[in-house]
Amino acid sequence: MFMRKSAAAIAVLALTGVVSASAATVTAKGTGVGKDGDIKVQVTFKDGKINAIKVLQQRENPVLSRKVFTDLKRDVIRTNSVDLDVISGATFSSRGFLDAVKNAARKAKVKLSANGRAKLKAAGSNLAPVQDYDVVVIGAGGAGFSAAIEAHNAGAKVVLIEKMPQVGGNSLISGAEMNAARNWIQPRLGILDDSAERHADDTFKGGDAKGDPAVIKTLAQGALPAAKWARDYIGVRYEPDNLFFFGGHSRKRALIPVGQTGTEYITKFSAKAAELGIPVITDMKAEELIKTDGRVSGVKCTMKGKVYTFNAKGGVVLATGGFGANAAMVKKYAPDLDERFKTTDAPGTTGEALYMAERAGAQLVNMQYVQTYPICDPVSGTIELIADTRFDGAILINQEGKRFVEELGRRDVISHAILKQTGGYCWVLWNDRIGAISKTVEAHPDEFDAFTKNGTMTVCKDLACIARFTKIPQESLEATVSRVNSMTGKGNDKDFHHRAGLVDLSQGKYYVVKAVPSIHHTMGGVRINPKAQALDAEGRVVPGLYAAGEVTGVTHGTNRLGGNAYTDILVFGRIAGENAAWEAASRR
Ligand code: ADP
Repeated sequence: MFMRKSAAAIAVLALTGVVSASAATVTAKGTGVGKDGDIKVQVTFKDGKINAIKVLQQRENPVLSRKVFTDLKRDVIRTNSVDLDVISGATFSSRGFLDAVKNAARKAKVKLSANGRAKLKAAGSNLAPVQDYDVVVIGAGGAGFSAAIEAHNAGAKVVLIEKMPQVGGNSLISGAEMNAARNWIQPRLGILDDSAERHADDTFKGGDAKGDPAVIKTLAQGALPAAKWARDYIGVRYEPDNLFFFGGHSRKRALIPVGQTGTEYITKFSAKAAELGIPVITDMKAEELIKTDGRVSGVKCTMKGKVYTFNAKGGVVLATGGFGANAAMVKKYAPDLDERFKTTDAPGTTGEALYMAERAGAQLVNMQYVQTYPICDPVSGTIELIADTRFDGAILINQEGKRFVEELGRRDVISHAILKQTGGYCWVLWNDRIGAISKTVEAHPDEFDAFTKNGTMTVCKDLACIARFTKIPQESLEATVSRVNSMTGKGNDKDFHHRAGLVDLSQGKYYVVKAVPSIHHTMGGVRINPKAQALDAEGRVVPGLYAAGEVTGVTHGTNRLGGNAYTDILVFGRIAGENAAWEAASRR
């Protein structure tokens, strides 16, 4: 009798998702839906309260969602509640996790507390309100990590502060290719005549001669040492046999990180900062630079309404990125880029630190130059990394099925050309031959999933099927593809002079994705010199203030070339960190 009853009880428990139960302890499984699929947890309840949570399954972005499975999980247990704020920047992952815990509680018939937020507030934070450092770095993207690590290695006591709950900024979600002339892959591809001078020349011309030649020279010359530092010291892995040929460059020179996103850099940067013992404080927003006797000597910050002061003996490095996610600020400086435009940028890219720098005496320059990225998802505004096949021969066609621009042209040129087409969008078309080189579908399975589900993208065995999906007239599509096939190879594109040469598209499978331009990079920002020191309107150094990365405004002129953001953040992040550390040492 006992055996039967117990087996039946186990069957019921299994059916309801309750894994095991004793008088005081119940363990149950729960499921919630995250950003990238189901999140499954196993929760152990002891005496009617959450005692432990084991995450059984989740496929969320590891950097963006990290705090969901550390801090949020800790707070759920601490408060016995799912009534908590989501981790900003990881809203869907947070909700999925909280729902999974709720689901488990329901199955275990445990009532959770309804006031987790209030309990957390009462617990408070134990960070010291005033802290002293040699170097304070603001913004934990690629520039901030580079600066903090180099400052530390030059002997400084350094802290890295970040307003978002997670590190990474735009550097994380970027494709993260990095230009470096004379890199180790170029000879394997037969590219033997590149040089830092050519790279500098392309960058200066690509920005319509509005960049500062001395800063650009430093960028181009520092590129290869920075890439080797990233590879050999930080541990960044690059694709061994391919480079990107971004628009506006005269040579193929952009290194591609494994996975083709900034996750490779940011996970390695975070690991290095942890190894070196550099404190990285998230949820800490810089509000105002502090000046003492004419020099920047620290920064006032806030965390959840509480004020913290970080004093900096050597200097403050601003590495706070651009302002592309601040629609009002974009419109203020570039009135044409109004509400119609979405953005590719991370939510923290809101530019308030630029005004902080201005109030501290730095000059803001080139603020009107805002770059749209031409090939973005019409639904979310994010970059379609899957369509990076464009760099290996994918063509751009309009709703009438016609090519209308050189596919390797500058971002601003392509963006403006797309906006002039019917509906203000275009289609990116490629075949397996190109896909085998780019491997973007394999590299970005999440995009493939999302775009094919939301009707932005499809795969077809022939052009008739592509015509049906896109509603492009079939004869026109076929005529364009035959014309491309008749002009393949370098120097043969009579229509738009494709600089790398068109690729044969006669064989399927075919892939097509719809694309629109989206606000991407803000070229303007703090005026700096080649030492990454902030300058005022008269060109004088603002003592104690350094800036690196997208927050600066003299590198890219009117238009940043692809692959130059990562070069910028690594080269000038390193310079800023090292110089601020030296300044601290000289003031000890
Ligand atoms: P870059 O490419 O120049 O390194 P990113 O966009 O990758 O720039 O990183 C900038 C980081 O700075 C982002 O993580 C952003 O959230 C952070 N940030 C921006 N403004 C502030 C601020 N006021 N206080 C602290 N962090 C900030």
